[in-house]
Amino acid sequence: MDYQAVLEEVWDGVRPVLGQGRVATYIPALAAVDPRRFGMALATVEGDVYGVGDWREPFSIQSISKVFTLALALSRDGDALWRRVGKEPSGNPFNSLVQLEYEQGIPRNPFINAGALVITDRLQRLTGDARGTLRDFLRAESGNPSVDFDPVIAASEAEHGHRNRALAHFMASYGNMEGAVPEVLEHYFWQCSLAMSCADLARACGFLARHGQRADGSRLLTRSQAKQVNAVMLTCGTYDAAGEFAYRVGLPGKSGVGGGIIAVIPNRCGLCVWSPGLDARGNSVAGVEALDRFTTLTGLSIF
Ligand code: GLU
Repeated sequence: MDYQAVLEEVWDGVRPVLGQGRVATYIPALAAVDPRRFGMALATVEGDVYGVGDWREPFSIQSISKVFTLALALSRDGDALWRRVGKEPSGNPFNSLVQLEYEQGIPRNPFINAGALVITDRLQRLTGDARGTLRDFLRAESGNPSVDFDPVIAASEAEHGHRNRALAHFMASYGNMEGAVPEVLEHYFWQCSLAMSCADLARACGFLARHGQRADGSRLLTRSQAKQVNAVMLTCGTYDAAGEFAYRVGLPGKSGVGGGIIAVIPNRCGLCVWSPGLDARGNSVAGVEALDRFTTLTGLSIF
């Protein structure tokens, strides 16, 4: 398949929606990004990379980081991890407090903020350095040694992180935080601040297309764990619009409020699209449109 030609056609098709939606405004660094930016990259399991638009431009990966912390924690903890966090779609906004009370401090899934905080807590306990482990992993998988955190965004996240603080303390009150809450939050704010390009991220999610095998051929996850992560992405990866995303795109995916979305085609490739204009539920308008067009043009959904 001529992936470059497909990406060009997708890019052409999304031009009418570029600039639609609203950029995230809860921190100044995200509010300043031009909503008309668009990039998309595809990295095959063999290592070839194709891209269009701003595909080499680093952006704030935000909640996309939750996929990688989940994979890293699961690889070390195995099934025990699922005692701390569920695997059901929440149907509520990503930062909602409501369900946590009904569920006795066990978050519905690892991709809402509460769940991601638990995973970061666990990763910190398992490795002693959650954020360093995450950065090293992403550098290795993307093949880009300059992947790094953005200290300005990390500081802004901390400054505006009242809701995340509330979630973490609420879970601690139920006994679902092992570490000190401020330390867990610190790691979480840093992980959200990672800056990566579409090319970096398309490569970095390759291990999910290779059923758990890393870029160097070693294994991060068992085949079954890779299936689990892909399944949770499909059902919970795009905020409370995961049903709509599965319906339109038909791939495991994870979005972030920076406007990025990664998606996985098992056995074939990792995809990443970035465009900062978000719809009402926090997903990139042009990003979802691009992935919808991609699977429609190629027939490469998982269904
Ligand atoms: N830093 C954001 C938060 O924790 C991440 C939001 C997101 O990308 O979903 O609120």
